[in-house]
Order: sequence, then structure tokens, then C-alpha cells
Amino acid sequence: MNKGKVFLVGAGPSDVGLFTLKGKAVLEAADVVVYDALVGQAVLHLIPEHVRRIDVGKRAGDHPVPQGEINQILLREALAGNTVVRLKGGDPFLFGRGGEELELLVEYGIPFEIVPGVTSAIAVPAYAGIPVTHRDFCSSVHIITGHTKKNPEAEIDYDALVRLNGTLVFLMGAGALETICARLIEAGLAPDTPAAILERGTTAAQRRVAADVACLPLLAARAQIKTPAIIVVGEVCSLAEKFAWAEHRPLGGKRIIVTRPRALASKLVHLLREKGAEVVELPSIVTQPITPNLPLDHALAQISRYSWLVFTSPAGVEIFFSHLRQSRMDIRALAGVKLAAIGSATAKEIERRGLLVALMPEAYNAVELADKLALTVGKEERVLIARAKEGTPDLTDKLNEQCIAYDDVALYDTLYTCEDAAAVSEMLDAGELDYVAFTSASTVRGFVNTLGKRDYSKLHAVCIGQSTEKQAKEYGMQTHTAQQATIESMMDLMIQLSKGEQENDTAE
Ligand code: SAH
Repeated sequence: MNKGKVFLVGAGPSDVGLFTLKGKAVLEAADVVVYDALVGQAVLHLIPEHVRRIDVGKRAGDHPVPQGEINQILLREALAGNTVVRLKGGDPFLFGRGGEELELLVEYGIPFEIVPGVTSAIAVPAYAGIPVTHRDFCSSVHIITGHTKKNPEAEIDYDALVRLNGTLVFLMGAGALETICARLIEAGLAPDTPAAILERGTTAAQRRVAADVACLPLLAARAQIKTPAIIVVGEVCSLAEKFAWAEHRPLGGKRIIVTRPRALASKLVHLLREKGAEVVELPSIVTQPITPNLPLDHALAQISRYSWLVFTSPAGVEIFFSHLRQSRMDIRALAGVKLAAIGSATAKEIERRGLLVALMPEAYNAVELADKLALTVGKEERVLIARAKEGTPDLTDKLNEQCIAYDDVALYDTLYTCEDAAAVSEMLDAGELDYVAFTSASTVRGFVNTLGKRDYSKLHAVCIGQSTEKQAKEYGMQTHTAQQATIESMMDLMIQLSKGEQENDTAE
């Protein structure tokens, strides 16, 4: 049998923007991904849905899969002919046991490649405003493990470290912070040397405690700093305050959930990340075209009966036109039909196809759309509505009221998925979610379906419009609604909300 191949890939320190292009390409070609606890949630999201995942990382209370077993998993999967990605936090060769994992593969002649990653040893200080070297202060940087395999602490030569006079970066040292600082001072380091401990760097929850080496353990304990954290010792730490930048971004320090069908999520996610937010994608609804679709075929066969064709979502437009193509019809079939769109994103999707939209409400919602149709559609005219299976009755109720003739054809089903529900539940319980962005009432239902019935009263729902808001309120969420029903307006609202919070913080 063909042997597979193993890619040892560094996932970076957590922020998905620091994951390499090569790493992403390799993930997309994988059959199976074996990953650790330190790999960021958003990096895991890049794993395509059909790829098998094996979690060998630590979970609270549980023990990680022992190293020997991980080595065996990699070997077994590769021998079965699979392309295996071994995904690790930071860089795989810096305290990542990458070397140990390769030994067995080499023994069996399994082909492999290494994809280095951005190491937390440098990136986490950078996100905290600490350059690990600076010509005014030091001429070297040393990366040390605070925890060695055989004998914790014992192997560190503190005298040598102090003599080097460079920046010291300790990984896996949070639990031994007190000992590390005490030993450094014993070895002759000035007790007032600047130092810092940096928790969960590059995430929205990143924290920095800075103090001199003598005081750092006490302050870190007071702040309840936990692992994963990095200790930096050296003059460069004195720059942290001046160079702090990550938390000063408009959405810096905010963790936001975006719930949209995967293909549509990218614009909002991109905008929010650009403003510094950590975005977790929860594509709680996926759209699935209805095939075969006899009612749609029927409507298309008699398309000249209709004066108006109404779309209520970009996904609907996409599915309608691909159905048209598959039916061997082109857009000329729509020559006599006027087009209506619920909002700008839907209109854009239509106009991209060389067709102009004749009607769009000022406020992008179903009620306004129906009102506008009622004013415009002639008595003898018939309307074709092409939308989701469980579209809101607001639209059709209004048309009924106005005695407008219409056919409501379902294009796609919205299905709820459970992907990553556990991780999001944990964040919700720990109070680590700032906002959840909802772009339709069905995404609210999808979110609740995914996470189950629970108390949502602390959750801040940022809604695109009124029917979304209404749905979120029904589940007891705190709601905030965008001024305009656009992605940009939702982003502005989140920036305003987070500004408001900061002002409240300072007022306290
Ligand atoms: N190979 C990894 C390091 C693995 S050792 C790398 O190159 O980054 C694990 C240690 O890395 C943790 O104990 C912690 O000290 C550090 N670490 C990793 N990610 C971190 C993060 N986001 N914030 C703070 N420390 C982190």
C-alpha cells in the first residue's frame, strides 16, 4: 500500500492571522488532522468539514494523550495511506516535541515535511508591546523551558543565564514563576530588573502583568495569571506600556461570535478581525439547495406569467441562478420580469449578473419590502417570491392583505449544525464572549438550536434588523440593533458598544 505523508505544522500562537499560508494549504489537502490544546479555535476552523480530526490536547481536568500514543497515531494514519497534518501551537520545533514525533516516522520511512510556525516566544511579547531585543538594552534573547521532561527546574543554569545579560523568555513557566524569579535574583540579577508575565497572548483575552522580578510573582498571583503564559525578563519589558497596541485597536480585546452560513461569513469576519477582534465562527446554519425542485421548475416554465421576481437573501439569488443554468435557461428568460431585493447585499448579488434591481426598500426587512411591493405591484400583476423554505410570514401576510397574487417558492433549506458547539458553550459559561453577531432570525434560531436551551440573558446579541432582534429577545438575549441592515453598520455598532464599555470602565 502507498505510504501516506505527515506534515508537522506550526499553528502559531492563536491569532489565526499569524497562521502561515503554507500551513493553510496543507490543512486543506489533509485526510486527518491531529491537534493540540494550544491551537487557536479560528485555526481549527480552517480544517475543511470532511477532514477527520483527532484531538490529543489537554482538556480541563483531563490528561493529554501520552506522547508515545500520539507517535503511534501518526504512524498508524500514515501507514494507512493518509495525508496527516500534525498541528501544534506556535512552532513545532520549539518545545513542541516535533523531534520526538519524527523519530518513529523516520524509522518506518514515512515521508514528512515541516511547516514552521510563528512561535509564541516572540509573538506573544510582540502583542504585549515587548520587542524581545532592542539595541539599547540587550544583544541576545534566550528561550528557556520552565519545565523539563525529566527533572523540572533542575537543569536550568541560572548563573549562566544571568551572565548572558540578554532578554530571557520562559515558556511553560507559569507554575514555577516564583522559583524562577527567586533563582534569578540569587544568581545575581538585580531585583529591580523589569519583567512581565503574558497570559493567552494574541487572543482577545490576552493579559499582561508587568513588574520588577522581585514583585512579579506576587502581582501575578493576585491577578490569578494562569497557563498558557510566557515570562519575559529584561530591560525590554520597560517598553511594554509605551508600545502596547493590541488592546488599543477599536475592537481589541473583544471576542465575537459570527453565526452565518460559512460561505457568507467571510466579509463580516474579515472586517471585525481588521478592527482587532478575535472572531469565532459558528456557522450555525448551512443552506442546502432543494433538489429536485419541481415547484421552481414549474414556475420557471411559466416565467412570463410573472411581472415581479422577489429575492430575500444573497444565498437565494445564488441558488436561483444556478438552478436556471442547470435547467439550460439563461437570464434572457427573465426579460419581462422586474426584480426586487430585500437589501443591498441581495441587490449586489443580482446586479453582479448584469441585471438591474427595480425595487428595494429603504430599511432592509420583510415588512418594508412587502409595503413597497404593495405600492408598486399592479392589480393584474403576479409576483414570484424565491426564498428560503421557512421564510418569514411577514412578507406573505402583507401581500395577502393587499390582495396581491403571488407564488412563494422555496429554494433552499436551512439546516442547523453542531460544529464547535462545545467550545462556544464553554466560552459562554466562562463569560468570555463579548458579542454574538446575528444576520437573520434564522441564525438566532440556529445558534440556540446548536447550544441548546439555557440562560441567554448575559449574551449581547448584535442584530442586523428588527426581525432578528425580535427573535433574539424571545430567547432572552440583550439586543443591540444596527442602524442600517448592513454588515458595515453592525461592525460600527460593535465599535460603539465597546467604546461605551471602556467609558464605563473608566467612570467606575
Ligand atoms: N511550540 C510552542 C511552545 C510550546 S510549549 C511555540 O512555539 O509557541 C507551551 C508553552 O508555550 C506554554 O506553556 C506557554 O508558555 C507558551 N505559549 C504558547 N502559546 C501561548 C499563548 N498564546 N500565550 C502565552 N503563552 C503561550
